[in-house]
Amino acid sequence: MRALILESPGTPPRLSVAHVPTPQPADGEALVRVAACGFCHHDRLVMAGTLRRGIPPGIILGHEISGTVEATGTNTNQIRPGDRVVSLLTGACGRCDRCQAGREHRCRNGQGIGHGRNGGFAEYATIPEHSLIRLPDALDLTPSALLACPAGVALQALTAVSVSPGDTVAITGAGGGLGIHAVQLAAAFGARTLAVTSSPHKAPALAAFGADEVIETGELDFSEIIMALTADQGADAVIDTVGAATIRSSIRSLAQYGRLALLGEVGGEVQLNGIIPEILFRDAQITGVSGLSRNTLEQATTMAAQGKLKPILEQAIPLEEATRAFTMMSSRAILGRIALIPSI
Ligand SMILES: [Zn+2]
Ligand SMILES: [Zn+2]
Repeated sequence: MRALILESPGTPPRLSVAHVPTPQPADGEALVRVAACGFCHHDRLVMAGTLRRGIPPGIILGHEISGTVEATGTNTNQIRPGDRVVSLLTGACGRCDRCQAGREHRCRNGQGIGHGRNGGFAEYATIPEHSLIRLPDALDLTPSALLACPAGVALQALTAVSVSPGDTVAITGAGGGLGIHAVQLAAAFGARTLAVTSSPHKAPALAAFGADEVIETGELDFSEIIMALTADQGADAVIDTVGAATIRSSIRSLAQYGRLALLGEVGGEVQLNGIIPEILFRDAQITGVSGLSRNTLEQATTMAAQGKLKPILEQAIPLEEATRAFTMMSSRAILGRIALIPSI
């Protein structure tokens, strides 16, 4: 099969498309013919050489996979050849206490797809059947690659901070892959949705996808604007997809009993001076979101089939043009995601 190989990391990385043996599904696994695989910031960081930990050399990247089951290994009973599927981000065992508790992304025996085990920047990938969800006929395969990451991860974050109808929810990095899906989902949940972005040209799209207000980061701290828009009450929840650059303002944007979810970005230095009282005197909560469960992926899939969630795929491009995808992702000019298409 054809697979994208990271020859050497860098900016830009040296990438090639090589012929490698097609993998065979092991016990409990399915062989998936990849229809599309989203290009995540995780992939960009590995290609740039920024992220190396836990990644064996020569691994096939890509964890945002949709496709069709080609074959199944022994002891599979959920998935059959011909099924159209979307994958979780982790190869989950389905047997450990975490999997049994519906926390498949924290499986005790799990390996990150396109991180600890081979991923979807190839014509085929082997994936444990416990990590696959069947797609409804109404959904197209290519955009459905984004239903787990970024769309389902955004849904996991909104669930983690218990967004209810009538809540005010602020989303940082709103024009990014996680952000644009979080905006749609917050609006679908009936929340007043405040989209925070550093890309003014994305404002019309953010409004079209459900943002009640678009706040451009600039001279004024966005927490000041959020306080002004909420009669000094603050936001019931903040979904922060930017991290170090925005966390202080995100905390200052919270209402009393406000909930902050951190997801996506992990780099950068955070200055904590004066921030403890900001959390303490709000009785605020801060939670990390690193992936998504089967349950969340099923919910994202159902919402997509109902038309409540649209995976935002800006471009689908061939495997051979992965370097262009890297450059586009690095520029942050795109809205939503790019996906690589492995088949010719
Ligand atoms: Zn991703
Ligand atoms: Zn497990």
